[in-house]
Amino acid sequence: MPAMAEALKDANSCDGGEGCQCERGKYYVTAVNGSAFYVMAGPYSTHREAEADRNKALRIADDIDGRAWFMVWGVTRMADDYTKVGKLNELGLL
Ligand SMILES: [Zn+2]
Repeated sequence: MPAMAEALKDANSCDGGEGCQCERGKYYVTAVNGSAFYVMAGPYSTHREAEADRNKALRIADDIDGRAWFMVWGVTRMADDYTKVGKLNELGLL
């Protein structure tokens, strides 16, 4: 395998599934639309919990605004002192 592909694989080794052993922290479901970055759901204390809610958050957002479907959804770990709640939590939708 070329070195670059190997490096990318290492950077992205956890998909938040069954085998997730990422340390606890402040995880959020996030959506990216071009240069805009939205903190949609969270915080979750584990990567796995956030990942488990990712599609649910996308479906709820998509019901409100169909553009959500075209954004890039993922899970982001924020700094431990980040205190905001996700947009969907703030609106009482999740
Ligand atoms: Zn993980």
